[in-house]
This record gives sequence, structure tokens and C-alpha cells, in this order.
Amino acid sequence: MSVAVTSKHPGTSEGRSRIGVRLLVVTVMAGLVFSVLSTLVRGGFAYMDERDALVVELTQVQDIIRPALAKAIWELDRGSVKVHLDSAARLSALGQVEVTILMADAPPEIHTRTRPDWSLDASLPVLRQSLVYSPYPEAREVVGELAVFANGRELQRRLYREIAIIFATQLLQSLLLAGFVMWMFNRSVTRHVRDVAAHLDVLSPETLSRKLALRDKMNQNDELDQLAGGVNELQRRLRGHLAQQAQYEGELSRHRDHLAELVGERTRELEAANQKLGELSRSDALTGVSNRRHFDECTEIEFRRARRTHEALSLVICDIDYFKRFNDTYGHVAGDDCLRRVAAALAGGCRRGGDVLARVGGEEFVVLLPGMGAAEAVRCAERLRAGVLALGIVHSASDVAASVSISVGVAVLDPSRMESFDAFYHCADKALYRAKALGRNRVVCWEGEE
Ligand code: GH3
Ligand code: MG
Ligand code: MG
Repeated sequence: MSVAVTSKHPGTSEGRSRIGVRLLVVTVMAGLVFSVLSTLVRGGFAYMDERDALVVELTQVQDIIRPALAKAIWELDRGSVKVHLDSAARLSALGQVEVTILMADAPPEIHTRTRPDWSLDASLPVLRQSLVYSPYPEAREVVGELAVFANGRELQRRLYREIAIIFATQLLQSLLLAGFVMWMFNRSVTRHVRDVAAHLDVLSPETLSRKLALRDKMNQNDELDQLAGGVNELQRRLRGHLAQQAQYEGELSRHRDHLAELVGERTRELEAANQKLGELSRSDALTGVSNRRHFDECTEIEFRRARRTHEALSLVICDIDYFKRFNDTYGHVAGDDCLRRVAAALAGGCRRGGDVLARVGGEEFVVLLPGMGAAEAVRCAERLRAGVLALGIVHSASDVAASVSISVGVAVLDPSRMESFDAFYHCADKALYRAKALGRNRVVCWEGEE
């Protein structure tokens, strides 16, 4: 049997289908059916008993009135015969009494007493017996016949009464049994099931340690105890499970924090590495200044900006004089060192934040000077040239100076004539070529001549 929960509050019995009541209804219904069946069976036996009892009664009546009747017939006392018949007819068990008086020289005389509501029924018992009179010992004279017919209505009445008693007792028995079963069920099952439901209703992780105990139980170690034991065991396991889960969650949280730290650390390392990589990808490995790639990126941006804003933009190309000879004289390693020192000197000469210094060829450096006009650019170029010369790197093979020097070409952007950056660069290169041609170790600014 299941409990159908229709209430929103599982702890209350309101709106709840009650097992006890259903059990009572079922038991009463079953009791009714059993009562009917039992009444039918016992009614059959009661019919036979009543019928037998009726036959006994008829026999007794016959036995009582037969001698008197025989005597009255013998003595031709018709009045007495009628009195006996009338008194017999008053008995409820009899439906009809019939006396046949045998006459020696005349047809038989029949006297009958019939109840008003009686009719002949072949299924009802009829007793017929001869009336014998003994006027003196050893003499037997048959003077007539006495027939008694059973009263069907009386049999029916008695049977009905018997059936009513049987049915009433059966029904009473069934009702008492149903009541007792329900009382027992309530006492030994429903009450405890409600306790279990109430216990489960308030169960939460905090109250898991509260044990379920069934109150005032009549029997021990039955199914309800198994149920309570099962609930307690389930709670115990749940407690263990929750404790383990909390432990796992703690560990997980610690791992997560550690992981976050690790990820943060790795991210920082990665960012630093990326930054380094970016710088490396943009810088020249030998001198540390920007490489050609970065220079190309910057020129693209600055060239467009200058064309858009009409701000000045200058380009300076520096080339070490007779560097091949330097290498030949002092060796390639010294040449590399010279390149590094020259680069550092050029970087020191670029004072503004937006200036871009890059190594674009073997011993060729460029400086992009956004927002700088011709005069200032020439001054800057001169400063760079002087800075390199001031390094004092001995160059005995140079025709132009005792130490390493540079030639510098300068160009200032003229948007009307320079459609592309290459054209702009070409002008600065031409100025450098001219500086070389004019004797090196000098600055030449391109001024538009071919
Ligand atoms: P000019 O005065 O006309 O500029 O003559 P130059 O010798 O400087 O020019 P050239 O173009 O004839 O020679 C450039 C030399 O630069 C050739 C090469 O040996 C040298 N060079 C190029 N790259 C490097 C480098 O990375 N390290 C060293 N040590 N030398 C380099
Ligand atoms: Mg060169
Ligand atoms: Mg050179």
C-alpha cells in the first residue's frame, strides 16, 4: 500500500490519504461480502434444520392428537373430532389438518382445517398416519387417517428470522474485526510510519546525527524496526558522505587556489616572455636598437600620420665610413663591437621619446624623427655624427678621420612630392650618397635637387 501525498506540507496529515481509513473501508467491504456469503451457506443449512424441526413438530402434533382422535371417531363423537382438529389447526407449524373417517357402509368422511393463507406446496412435508383404535387388548381397528401439512409461511418466517440473526451476527463480527484491525494497525504501524515521516521531514545536513527512534513499540525487530534501522544507516552513510565531500571540497578549493597562483605565475612569466619576444622580434640582435621590421612598422604609421596631420617628419640615414676597411683592419669581432658602440652613441643622440632609431643594414642606421622640421633634423643629425666621432674608436684605415666617423643624409617629408615612404627614403639616401661623395664624415640635407 502506498501513501499518496497530496498536501504541500508533508509533516501534516491534512489532505492526506490515510492508510488506516482505507484499510477500514476495505475490511468492512470484505466483511460485508463474507457476511453475505456466510449467510447464504448457513442459510442453506438453517433451511434444512428448520424443515426438520417442522417435521418433528408435525410428528409430535400427530402423536399427541392421534389417540384422542381415534377414540372420538370410534365413539362417533364428531364434536370431539372437531375440537381436536380446531386445536391442532391453531398450531403455527401446521398449514392444514385433514382427518379421513372410514365408514364401514358409507364413503369416507373427510374433515379439514386449513389456514386462510395456506396453499398446497409439493415441496413441503406432509405426514399421513392411520388412526387406529383398540377397543380392548389385542384388538386393532383402523378408523381413519390423519394428514398434517406443514405451514410453508411459518417455515419461511422462521427461516427469515434465522437468516437475519446469522447476517446480523456475521456483520457485527466483521465490523468488530475491522475496528480491531484498524485500531491495531494504527497502534502498531500508522503511528510509527508518521513518526518516520515527521523525522524525515525535518531532516537536513545539520540534523543528520539525530537518530530515528520509534516510541512505545509493542514488538521489537519487526519490519518497522528494519525501516528505522535502514533510515539511521542511511543517515550515517550520508553524514560520512557529506564529511568526505566537505573534505574533498576543501582540498579542491586549496588546489584551485594553488592552481590559480600557478596560472597567475605562468601568465606573468608568459607575458614577460611575450614582451621579451616582442622586443626581440623588433630589436636588432647585435646592437639592441630597433630592427628593420620595427622600423618598417613605425615608418608606415608615422608616414600616414604626417600626411594626414601635415606635421613635419624627418628621416636621417647614418652610414659608417670605410667600415669594410675597419673590419679588414681590426677583424669582424672588433667590427661588431664598433657597431654596438656606434648604435649606443646614436641612441644617446635621440633625445625625444617618439624618435625611432633602427639598424637597417650592415653598418647603416636610420632615425625617424616625427614632428621635426629640417633645421632641427639637421641639428640632430649633426649631434649624432659628432657623438659617433666623439667615441674615438680608432680607425687607422679611414681616409677621413683618425677614429670611426659616419656620413649622414637627412630628408624632410614633402607630401606634395613624396607619394610613398620609399620616395621619402630615397631622398634621404640620396643626401647620404651626396655626403659620401662630398668627402664623408658630414651631414647633407636633401633639398629637392636631383
Ligand atoms: P663607405 O665609406 O663607402 O660606406 O664604405 P664602407 O666600407 O663602409 O661600405 P661598404 O658597403 O663597402 O662595406 C660595408 C661593410 O660593412 C661590409 C661588411 O664587411 C661590413 N659589415 C656589414 N655588416 C656587418 C656586421 O654585422 N659586422 C661586421 N663586423 N661588419 C659588417
Ligand atoms: Mg653602407
Ligand atoms: Mg659605410
